[in-house]
Amino acid sequence: MVNFIPFIHGVATMTQSLSRLSDSPARFLSWLFRTVGPLVLLGLAACTAGPKPERADLIIVNGKVYPGGGAPIAEAVAVRGNQILALGTTADIETHRGDATTVVDAKGGSVLVGFNDAHVHFLSGGESLDRVNLFDAKTVAEAQQAIREFASAGPDRPRVLGRGWLYGTFPGGLPTRQQLDEVVSDRPALMECYDGHTVWVNTKALELAGITPETPDPPNGLIVRDAKGEPTGVLKESAQRLVNKILPEPTRDEKLELIRKAIRRAQSLGVTSVQNAGMDPDEFELYAELERQGELGVRMYAALSAPPGFSEEDAARYEEVLKQHPGTPLLKTGAIKMFADGVIESHTAAMLEPYANNDTTGIPNYTVEDMNRIVAMMDGKGWQIFIHAIGDRGIRMALDAYEHAAEVNPAPARGRRHRIEHIEAVSADDIPRFAKLGVIASMQPFHANPIQNVLEVWAVNLGPERASRAWAWKSIQDAGGRLAFGTDWPVVDIVPQPGIHTALTRQTLDGEPEGGFVPEQRLPLKNVLDVWAAGSAYASFEDERKGTLAPGMLADVVVLSMDLFDVPVENVKDFEVETTIFDGRVVYSRNAGDAGASR
Ligand SMILES: [Zn+2]
Repeated sequence: MVNFIPFIHGVATMTQSLSRLSDSPARFLSWLFRTVGPLVLLGLAACTAGPKPERADLIIVNGKVYPGGGAPIAEAVAVRGNQILALGTTADIETHRGDATTVVDAKGGSVLVGFNDAHVHFLSGGESLDRVNLFDAKTVAEAQQAIREFASAGPDRPRVLGRGWLYGTFPGGLPTRQQLDEVVSDRPALMECYDGHTVWVNTKALELAGITPETPDPPNGLIVRDAKGEPTGVLKESAQRLVNKILPEPTRDEKLELIRKAIRRAQSLGVTSVQNAGMDPDEFELYAELERQGELGVRMYAALSAPPGFSEEDAARYEEVLKQHPGTPLLKTGAIKMFADGVIESHTAAMLEPYANNDTTGIPNYTVEDMNRIVAMMDGKGWQIFIHAIGDRGIRMALDAYEHAAEVNPAPARGRRHRIEHIEAVSADDIPRFAKLGVIASMQPFHANPIQNVLEVWAVNLGPERASRAWAWKSIQDAGGRLAFGTDWPVVDIVPQPGIHTALTRQTLDGEPEGGFVPEQRLPLKNVLDVWAAGSAYASFEDERKGTLAPGMLADVVVLSMDLFDVPVENVKDFEVETTIFDGRVVYSRNAGDAGASR
């Protein structure tokens, strides 16, 4: 389904352009050359003598250009201003070269649409760049070693912060404050779990936050306690907020700096668009500020957070944000983000039937009535809705809320493109409903990376029947549903390669398990790249301007170190980003010395 988007778009654009141009034969020829010439008249350059080719500001030559949508591979791309001017052979595109044209030699590497990460938390991502990353720690000792090194490298830091640890790293699935005290005892240490739903703290942090055996669990939260009732150093869900008082909020300038860092990181990875899954209007204002300063080097689509109880007054506040900033090709909102449930690893995802290894089902964050009310209210105002839903019950509540909204509201002018985020364990009955209701499945393939944590905690919590529909992206797509892909940075790193690898192979980066984890969900390479570009662009209502490489589309292009279509599928992940072109300009080059581009 995703594969047809650019063609449908192309035909529509062509028809509109034809009606405008048919009165002028010269303009028609020029249009034909610019629009379809490079694709259809490939190799017939001799026949197009006449109108002088338009000068390009930048050309990419000697590449393996995959335009998206299953289109054939081209060699070269011409860019004028911030748009794609033409695609074709290197010889064709050289005709657009002028004295001031920047030339990028792709040296046989793949040339793709810049990656569009459909689910990130960009400011937290920036913050994560200043924290110890525990994602690769496979044992308690490895986690402790990483924390020890990080702490001793910054003895002046008032607190030691980290993130990314996995439940499966710790005996019993949870760490303890004593394990953290062994490496940091003089200052508070706080280590966020990779999924953001649990925090591991040391004894100093519990003391400073005033958490004692007498402290009650907050609503929707849990202070994990030992047999004697002593807090063990693990705080789940809303109980994480109990330590906020020892974590001062960064200042506005500090936040702007964190976002600048996050932008540089995205550019270095070929990520040219990101979609932020939940922020408050104050954070949105930071991106607006960077846009005004000409510093927003990544396109940002922002969903604003809508917690339980979200009211008409809250909606009015968000409408005001949208009125102040109706949207540009760099920054736009018009979406809200809701959190239906938690995660499977900590038994907080909402399930239709109890977990396999205890008798709980997880508790949804919203009542059905509250979710239906908020969704119908915002749908009626023309807003798009993202719902985080991981368990089969959470997913069903979200689908039901979208169905309800479609019944009570007239269809919005731009169509309904509501989304569900994550979709880790879907009921078989709900798979066809994505297509039927036009709901986008926004998934983060690297969450399905079948490491010990997935195989021995995630899958065991669900039992084999439900685990057989783990991250069922292909089933949803085969049933006619649309996909969008991303990373959930900083839950996992914003680097696209590992997630692309999981979508292709359903194996770890080391090739485990043999044959893959639920391997029937593997997708072919063009499909994965299309979802990461056109699928994600559709999910933010921007498929008219981005997601494929075609004349008139925004010039967000990435040049890779190798031809992805010329290597075994398990080696695709080994590519490096050589050059990132954003909005028509080179913003990153791996060999900054030669700039990867010449004039
Ligand atoms: Zn997220």
